[in-house]
Amino acid sequence: MANPLYDGLFGAHAGQSTPFLRLADGQVITHGAFLESAARIANVMADLGLAPGDRVAAQVEKSPEALALYAACAQAGLVFLPLNTAYTADELQYFIENSGASLIVCDGRSDATLAPMAGQFGARIESLNGDGSGSLMDKARTMPAEFATVPRTADDLAAFLYTSGTTGRSKGAMLTQANLLSNARTLVKEWRFTAGDVLLHALPIFHTHGLFVATNVALAAGSSMIFLPKFDLDQVIAGLPEATAMMGVPTFYTRLLNDDRFTRDLTAHMRLFISGSAPLLAETHVQFESRSGHRILERYGMTETNMNTSNPYEGERRAGTVGFPLPGVELKITDPETGKTLPDGEIGQIEVRGPNVFKGYWQMPEKTAAELRDDGFFITGDLGRIDTDGYVHIVGRNKDLIISGGYNIYPKEIELVLDDQPGVLESAVIGVPHPDFGETVLGVIVPEKGAAPDTEAMMQAVQQALARFKHPRALVMLDDLPRNTMGKVQKNLLRDSYKDMFA
Ligand code: ATP
Ligand code: MG
Repeated sequence: MANPLYDGLFGAHAGQSTPFLRLADGQVITHGAFLESAARIANVMADLGLAPGDRVAAQVEKSPEALALYAACAQAGLVFLPLNTAYTADELQYFIENSGASLIVCDGRSDATLAPMAGQFGARIESLNGDGSGSLMDKARTMPAEFATVPRTADDLAAFLYTSGTTGRSKGAMLTQANLLSNARTLVKEWRFTAGDVLLHALPIFHTHGLFVATNVALAAGSSMIFLPKFDLDQVIAGLPEATAMMGVPTFYTRLLNDDRFTRDLTAHMRLFISGSAPLLAETHVQFESRSGHRILERYGMTETNMNTSNPYEGERRAGTVGFPLPGVELKITDPETGKTLPDGEIGQIEVRGPNVFKGYWQMPEKTAAELRDDGFFITGDLGRIDTDGYVHIVGRNKDLIISGGYNIYPKEIELVLDDQPGVLESAVIGVPHPDFGETVLGVIVPEKGAAPDTEAMMQAVQQALARFKHPRALVMLDDLPRNTMGKVQKNLLRDSYKDMFA
């Protein structure tokens, strides 16, 4: 009997004294010790009466124990459901009720608030704090350090991961063992991860990026991780000379570039910087290379599919693109109206198919049917095109498309022009209601520190570069764009703020 995910990622390291987690205080947790801790937690969960297929919801700080909880779920055949630490009790109510979780693992501070909720839904509750203390580990310490791995098939669910909620209410994506394992193995090969790698891990572990891309890749390759509780500039700078690879959201890279300590020397030992979860500005890519000598490798994925495309490890990493479909992943650009494949070069919706694509949204049969086609293609909700060299470009989300006077306007095209103007750090172009046109274009500009970009000049630049129907009706300045924890710009909040501007 087998459990492909556990055997493939974790079991292979059982009893090994190889380093797995390197903590900020210098402590090193070996693969063997990590798996013993996971087995103890698996015993606790079995003792609580959890049965294979049950859901375990975890809203906990990032810690080695929190990661061991993920391994324990895999070993015990439970479905792991990590939750953003920023969610409030009200928000948690939805996730816990929606998922039907049998166990809630939460920070001791939330225990009192969540206990009645757990009672209401018949779930057990245990605490796990950022320092590893709490009832879960108290119980785990009394348990044996071995656990008989529960047999599972590749098609069994391994995780429920809720989407980031950038475009609406978060949806629970059902991910199978095969979804996770196939993607981890593909990425190890594509990005050349080996047991010799040391991955600098400063991402949260409640999201696909930090949990499945970073952690699963490190586990599948036998690499170790410098495991930081969060992105702390000082800790990241201290860790870089020891690391060989780092994965980050674009804001990690802009924050590094804003620090004078970030130099070529600091990154001399590194072989790879990877970016994803949100678009990396071409400007950041260029600046990063001139400062460090490294070209950031940008890739594209999402909760529902893990990773779909990547720039090449060898070959040109092209700024402003997300590279090529990964081996085994089919990607096509289709007409949103007809669903027909469009010729290369044309903008349309991005659809993907492959072993990485999820099983559907938990208890949302209509949404699943609308986005996951019978033939296995998933309609990602992103718009893009494929250039003549085969590189995939993302031009934005379907929901951010502006339709003004019957014309389709892709915000990215206007943002690229605005970003190029002197004194502009970044921009976000949105559609806002307009009585004549339905929607009209509004440009939101974030000036560089201390700069005051000239609105007239920016308008002229846009007028020169783009057709009249794409010109912003107005430009407004903001100090920062609203972003969620994964660094994604929340255009829905911007649309809300400016909805009455022309109405
Ligand atoms: P929701 O689906 O709830 O609105 P979300 O789509 O932001 O939230 P995630 O699954 O975390 O939730 O994010 C996936 C999305 O992130 C992709 O659909 C895409 O829009 C964006 N994304 C990921 N990587 C990149 C990238 N390299 N460049 C541009 N966008 C990216
Ligand atoms: Mg999404």
